[in-house]
Amino acid sequence: MAQERYDWASLGIDVTKPSIARAYDVVLNGKDNFEVDRGFVTEIVKIIPEIYDVAAYNREVLGRGVRYLAGEAGLRQFLDLGSGLPTVQNTHQVAQATAPETRVAYVDNDPIVLAHGRALLAENDNTTVVTADLREPEAILADADVRRLIDFGEPVAVMLVGILHHLHDDEGPQRIVETLMDAVPSGSHLFVTSFCASSPEAVDAERKYLALLGTGRFRTPEEITAYFGGLELLEPGVVPLPLWRPDGDVPAELTVGQRLMYGGIARKP
Ligand code: SAM
Repeated sequence: MAQERYDWASLGIDVTKPSIARAYDVVLNGKDNFEVDRGFVTEIVKIIPEIYDVAAYNREVLGRGVRYLAGEAGLRQFLDLGSGLPTVQNTHQVAQATAPETRVAYVDNDPIVLAHGRALLAENDNTTVVTADLREPEAILADADVRRLIDFGEPVAVMLVGILHHLHDDEGPQRIVETLMDAVPSGSHLFVTSFCASSPEAVDAERKYLALLGTGRFRTPEEITAYFGGLELLEPGVVPLPLWRPDGDVPAELTVGQRLMYGGIARKP
């Protein structure tokens, strides 16, 4: 259902330009998006017809990763940066299904995430949504609401799932990752997924993202692997998302869409 009837401007929501969170909502078949976001996705579909599947691969690996982090790795605190609009199987739902006491701080800079997240989380004391910008990691680490739930003396799952590619090179994504991982103790984990320059189509898509959305850097597998520098990369390493600890069989040869995003998880020694 279109949402143009409401006074979004009063919430700081600009409906004249596509937003990252709302465009992602389009490809997840959500309802919290506007004509301008759907128009952007229509342009991307012309280059990557599988873009809706790519979003699904990212949500699926998010679920598998959080299940591992809350389960085998035993983490009870999650800092989910660039958390996006609430959808199905959100981080707190997956983690709290394993351990109900798990605390989750969601951070996003799009005000629409707070507007919709508050309703979802109203009855969950162990979860919060904070509006803040990843480009200022020190402010996130000092945020009172984040610190209310996250004890930086205990291991933390730092999630940068589908967000680092929205930072430009000159915004220092590597420094931001290091700042966050320096602030958490041994036993903490880093979970990253990112657009990858894995095909000619990916290179074309990067051009379109940058022109129409303003962000969207498709980095090489080596650049994505570098985010995990100094950490113990877990098996199977940094791989196309469908290959990260799949629940079922995976085809021998991956499509352009299946290779469009890479990711991995590492442990801080
Ligand atoms: N992590 C979720 C997932 O993977 O399903 C959502 C990913 S969505 C593609 C990226 C999110 O990052 C959007 O909600 C967007 O608003 C947010 N984002 C982009 N740049 C950001 C920044 N500089 N600071 C905080 N959030 C940002």
